Amino acid sequence: MAIIGIDLGTTNSLVSVWKNGRGTLIPNPLGEYLTPSVVSLDEDGTVLIGMAARERLISHPQQTAASFKRAMGSNRKFRLGNKEFTPEELSSLVLRRLREDAELFLEEPVEEAVISVPAYFTDRQRAATKRAGELAGLKVERLINEPSAAALACRMVQNTGDRNYLVFDFGGGTLDVSIVDCFENIVSILAVSGDNQLGGIDFDSCIADYFCEQNGILFQQLSPVQKAILLKQAEQAKIALGRQETVMLVLTGQDLSGSLTLDRQKFIEISAPIFQKMIKPIRRVLADSGIRSNELDDIVLVGGSSKLPVVAQWIGNFLKKSPTPLVYPDTAVALGAGIFAAMKDRNPQLKEMILTDICPFTLGTGVLNPNDPSRPLMAPIIERNSILPSSKAQRFYTVRDGQKKICVDIYQGESLYCEDNLRLGAVEIDIPPAPKSVENVDVRFTYDINGILEAEVYNQTTAHRERVVLVGKDSGLSEEEAAVRLEALTKLKINPRDQEENQLALAQGDRLYQETLGETRQKVALMVSWFEQILTSQDPLRIARSRKRFLELLRLLEAGREAELPSENDWKDEKS
Ligand code: ADP
Ligand code: MG
Repeated sequence: MAIIGIDLGTTNSLVSVWKNGRGTLIPNPLGEYLTPSVVSLDEDGTVLIGMAARERLISHPQQTAASFKRAMGSNRKFRLGNKEFTPEELSSLVLRRLREDAELFLEEPVEEAVISVPAYFTDRQRAATKRAGELAGLKVERLINEPSAAALACRMVQNTGDRNYLVFDFGGGTLDVSIVDCFENIVSILAVSGDNQLGGIDFDSCIADYFCEQNGILFQQLSPVQKAILLKQAEQAKIALGRQETVMLVLTGQDLSGSLTLDRQKFIEISAPIFQKMIKPIRRVLADSGIRSNELDDIVLVGGSSKLPVVAQWIGNFLKKSPTPLVYPDTAVALGAGIFAAMKDRNPQLKEMILTDICPFTLGTGVLNPNDPSRPLMAPIIERNSILPSSKAQRFYTVRDGQKKICVDIYQGESLYCEDNLRLGAVEIDIPPAPKSVENVDVRFTYDINGILEAEVYNQTTAHRERVVLVGKDSGLSEEEAAVRLEALTKLKINPRDQEENQLALAQGDRLYQETLGETRQKVALMVSWFEQILTSQDPLRIARSRKRFLELLRLLEAGREAELPSENDWKDEKS
């Protein structure tokens, strides 16, 4: 029984399978490979999926849901008529349709699939995707990161020999950027980055907003139907701008009339914020992979939004290298997922192929924040972009005299403060009481290619070991936890730090911490800790002076001018 590969996209979903020695796309009942990820409920409660449902986005917006992948793993509910659905329930309906298409095509039952997910999906979003598969009657042992799937497809389809790529996958709702190194039969993902909230629909919104502005309309005041019509027209105008210099957008009827002439130049201007947001993931992925832009052999554009000529031009300018036009930008991820499914199935034709992937986020534990014990700090154990499987250990010491227990909280994320990261679980261990900093535990995290994290805590004195295995389980916040978080947030507001400049400075420190790794990251943490400590003094002058210095230090680090940093004693010295 074949294992199928599914690209469960925000906008469109596809399914493929390895057949007769090659990746093969499976058509839907309309003979097309792209099935819109849209679900609608008609008057008598029948569920419509795909193209038909997409049509109803405009006609029956109240009964139709799209872009639900953006809410995957959250508690958001979608109301269709008088029924409510979770994002994973809606996704499972799309998956069920694809499964049926595959069964018809293969003339056999299909019970297992590999599903692709954005590399930046958290464990919670991954777990939700797996559940969607299960709800559709599919066993989903493996998920594959979308950029890894695209890379696999590039490798197999183009077969261009040993080289490295930057894969830029720009879809309807997400952007994934990755650096891939292909050597002989090994495809290695070196680094991934992305933006879960950036895609083609943002261009559509920009055009719609501009249309409203030019015609004296307030977008927010439009009815759901009017919004849907306008957005659809905007999308068509966007796509038309790929072929022609100027487009006319004319709306009449539905109490919505107006017109707009848009040329490419103006389009680039109004979408400037979108291009601006593309910079960060590109910079980060290059920095994390250690590859300079002039060392890239190829830039591969994947995803519907990459078909916009202005996107290709912008990347070409930014990286000073022209991207390679792909003949199959829409289907690369699905093909890769299908190839990976066959690899998992130990297909003899692919048994030599190896895909090495990485951990897209940092895994760590919480340690005491000496300046604010209520806000523990993240101590990274497995840093993002570590090659999988990865197993790393660190030693942690007690912080109180006579401490009898150490609780190791497990977090995922790039924030300096644990509370801003995702808590995956905890392991507790008993230790013999002793003066503080004497007793310790070795914490080992092991993260495998399936996204299964094992945490082990070991105390030498007692030779005792505690272990917990976190299998992409639902780590959603309970009501209680959510209330605790909310309370913590409100608490923040009455804190003396609640001055915008200080907040902003801390936020910049936090951001830089997220963007850096290793030694630089440790320096940022030191600086933040120092500035936090100054803040507790509540002395406005001292705080203002230190803030200035703190921001200068961050600026140096950000500009990569670490060599010019004063020594720690110097920057901490308030008289200098
Ligand atoms: P996803 O992976 O999020 O499902 P896709 O890769 O299918 O998304 O891309 C969908 C997006 O691509 C939509 O926003 C759509 O408007 C856009 N798109 C599709 N074709 C084109 C085109 N020729 N030019 C510009 N944008 C396009
Ligand atoms: Mg996609």
